[in-house]
Amino acid sequence: MRAMILDVPGEPLRVAEVASPEPGEGQVLLRVHCCAVCRTDLHVVDGELPDPKLPLIPGHQIVGTVERIGEHTDGFTVGERVGVPWLGWTDGECRYCLSGRENLCENARFTGYQIDGGYAEYALADGRFCFSIPESYPDLQAAPLLCAGLIGHRSLRFAGDAERLGLYGFGASAHIVAQVASHEGRRVFAFTRPGDEEAKEFAREQGAEWAGSSEEAPPEELDAAIIFAPVGALVPAALRVVARGGTVVCAGIHMSDIPSFSYDLLWEERSVRSVANLTRQDGLDFLALAPEVPVRTEVMPFPLEAANEALEALRGGRVRGAAVLVVDAC
Ligand SMILES: [Zn+2]
Ligand SMILES: [Zn+2]
Repeated sequence: MRAMILDVPGEPLRVAEVASPEPGEGQVLLRVHCCAVCRTDLHVVDGELPDPKLPLIPGHQIVGTVERIGEHTDGFTVGERVGVPWLGWTDGECRYCLSGRENLCENARFTGYQIDGGYAEYALADGRFCFSIPESYPDLQAAPLLCAGLIGHRSLRFAGDAERLGLYGFGASAHIVAQVASHEGRRVFAFTRPGDEEAKEFAREQGAEWAGSSEEAPPEELDAAIIFAPVGALVPAALRVVARGGTVVCAGIHMSDIPSFSYDLLWEERSVRSVANLTRQDGLDFLALAPEVPVRTEVMPFPLEAANEALEALRGGRVRGAAVLVVDAC
């Protein structure tokens, strides 16, 4: 099979022909239709996350069809369409797994990080961690639901019942969260890179009532803010614009250092928290909700072999919505 392979973090991915894997017990082999590109892929490729499997096939928003089924893998039929998210395996027995917090599992393994992912023609997945995909979504439009959507939605839940919601970094996740938030009757305020007029326009199209630069103050105080951009300086910036009791949610897996800030910014019961990974319940909940909203994902397709170009476009802020690598989609 053709695959894009990371040999050494910090270097571009390499196109290669490798043997397609065999499904083991509990696994399915998927023929990959497409795989959306996440900012986490960029952190993995850049070496910002420790100890990836190497060599590695990145990618954790996989849409594919079941090609072969391993032993003791129940509930699948050949040809069925499924999605594979970031959470690829958990031990099921640690204190986190046993308390409904498998996203924090001490031994979790993640797709496209510790397990080969979807930047390839075929991918293996543990059947227990695959989702069925709502029928109304074509492959490309479904792919960004699997991380940008799922983890975005988990972040939105941690914003509580905030009516005035700020979103910092208007990429794949924010464009989905903005639609869900508007659907829930919230008011969305979008913060983009200074000078990025296109991103502001895009944010307004997705339901933001105000869009401005991350250096600007919004027209009124916010009740919560979600930070999708991997920029630590946005934490004090967001605390500065949330009202008393407001929450700042850091949605990314990696962020530059947070500069020190005055306690005044946190005072009056403001809080800062992170969101880590997803549970399977998050996936079930969000994939049921998405068609009801309905969430419409904006995608920018790239051929599989152009994975490096897709990652560079994401790095440069040139992706409108979500970049998706297309292998063989319908
Ligand atoms: Zn566990
Ligand atoms: Zn992701």
